[in-house]
Amino acid sequence: LDIKKVDFVSLSKETSKLMKNAYGRHISVCTPFDRVIGNADMQKMKQLLFIMLDNALKYSTLPVELNVGYEKDHVFFTVKDYGIGIPKEDIAHIFDRFYRVDKARHRETGGTGLGLSIAKQIVDSHEGSISVVSKEGEGTRFTVILPI
Ligand code: ATP
Repeated sequence: LDIKKVDFVSLSKETSKLMKNAYGRHISVCTPFDRVIGNADMQKMKQLLFIMLDNALKYSTLPVELNVGYEKDHVFFTVKDYGIGIPKEDIAHIFDRFYRVDKARHRETGGTGLGLSIAKQIVDSHEGSISVVSKEGEGTRFTVILPI
């Protein structure tokens, strides 16, 4: 890891701008802060955001929301979509390597099932946590918390 000071606000804005251009979809970055500074590996953080935004865009059609902030001892960001959601029985497995929910529902949104296992690995290597709240037919919200 190459740990340096990272501004999560500018990182979020830059990454979502790139993805907006590539996907032609709307991502709104929401934060009350001008900057949110944490210690992290910038490349890994880009990869982490990319994985979560890519999924949110893949499994929804409405705009995606990226929230960024900090509290006393941690920075956090959440990626929220209003898409197909994840069935309750699958939630426990989505961070496993190669796990994909019911292949039938994917069609052209094909993936390898590796994205979230890599996301988890990145978060673990920063001693943070990643969690998910999801409801089928309503949407999904991933939250990443990283210690400052
Ligand atoms: P890739 O490796 O290309 O990201 P993937 O999306 O299949 O492929 P993961 O990112 O590991 O793999 O996600 C695992 C599974 O979790 C997905 O197959 C999908 O079914 C489900 N999933 C992940 N994110 C979302 C989301 N935002 N909404 C609905 N389902 C999701």
